[in-house]
Amino acid sequence: MQKNQKRLTEVKGLKCTACKDEAILRIKRHHVAFCQRCFIKFIQKQTIQAIKKYHMFSKKEPVLLAVSGGKDSMALWSVLSELDNQITTIHLDLGIPNFSDQSRQVVQQFAKDKTLPLVVIYLKELLGYTLPELQKKVHRPACSVCGLTKRFLLNHYAYHHHFSVLATGHNLDDEAATLLGNILRWREGYLRHQSPCLPSDYPGLVKKVKPFYTLTDEEILCYVQQMKIPFCDSICPLSQKASSLDFKKALKVIEDQSPGTKHYFLFHYLEKKHDLFPEKQSNVILKNCSWCGMPTTQERCSFCSILERTQSKSQLFIGKDDIEP
Ligand code: AMP
Ligand code: ZN
Repeated sequence: MQKNQKRLTEVKGLKCTACKDEAILRIKRHHVAFCQRCFIKFIQKQTIQAIKKYHMFSKKEPVLLAVSGGKDSMALWSVLSELDNQITTIHLDLGIPNFSDQSRQVVQQFAKDKTLPLVVIYLKELLGYTLPELQKKVHRPACSVCGLTKRFLLNHYAYHHHFSVLATGHNLDDEAATLLGNILRWREGYLRHQSPCLPSDYPGLVKKVKPFYTLTDEEILCYVQQMKIPFCDSICPLSQKASSLDFKKALKVIEDQSPGTKHYFLFHYLEKKHDLFPEKQSNVILKNCSWCGMPTTQERCSFCSILERTQSKSQLFIGKDDIEP
């Protein structure tokens, strides 16, 4: 609320760059200010341009959208549901106390109000464990188990239900923080792969797209407020110590001093990535996991290795024989 009030005083007296009405938001890195109507158009236009630029999906192609209940995926749901594509949403209820119930209820209510298709998967039902229970069993940091679980299950569902595209709500702030983290730890493999659109380059791996990669946290927050889109604004209690939050904070300090730096950092990386890391013949050989059949570099994929340690009686492995060679 405070953040919003600060922004509103900052734009007091400013006119919309496009139509000269009273502005509600100033976007310093683009040197523009927008009224409510033009701002909503700006968000839609940025999303459509991102989809086109990276050939994320074509008109009418069905898309599976992962919705957490947070502002980004709720906003993306709203923007994508205006397009010609049929959008199916999927929500993973991870069973995190004081968080997962709220998130799921927001998503379910929105789907009901707008009569939009939604699939809800309960981790406890699927694996026999909630995320905190799973984490305790495997003794690994919560965010690492959570990220691995979400990546695996979302891709698994998309593949087995014949979606060629999986969209997520990752935005410019998320992508810049990820980039900073990968540079600080010099993770070359991750740097090579960081992109708003990861093509499907092996059977069983679905194309992953991030249509909001050009929009910031602040712009998306303003969009959901203007459109009155409900969202869950609690922070996951397991992510309090996540290093990505520190990278976001560090970038914010720099951005406040010199607006546009974050944008430049990410976009120029994406443009120069191919010069920095020329395409080389990949020496990674993927094969199918002996448990679940999904692509992996090892005998058993990382997710099944976790499940093996927990002795989960999951039914996930029924998909094993469905993967096309
Ligand atoms: P996060 O990793 O929490 O920053 O979320 C990034 C994106 O992943 C979100 O914008 C969603 O698209 C997706 N996502 C995160 N959590 C869930 C969830 N529990 N269920 C479905 N999608 C999720
Ligand atoms: Zn596996």
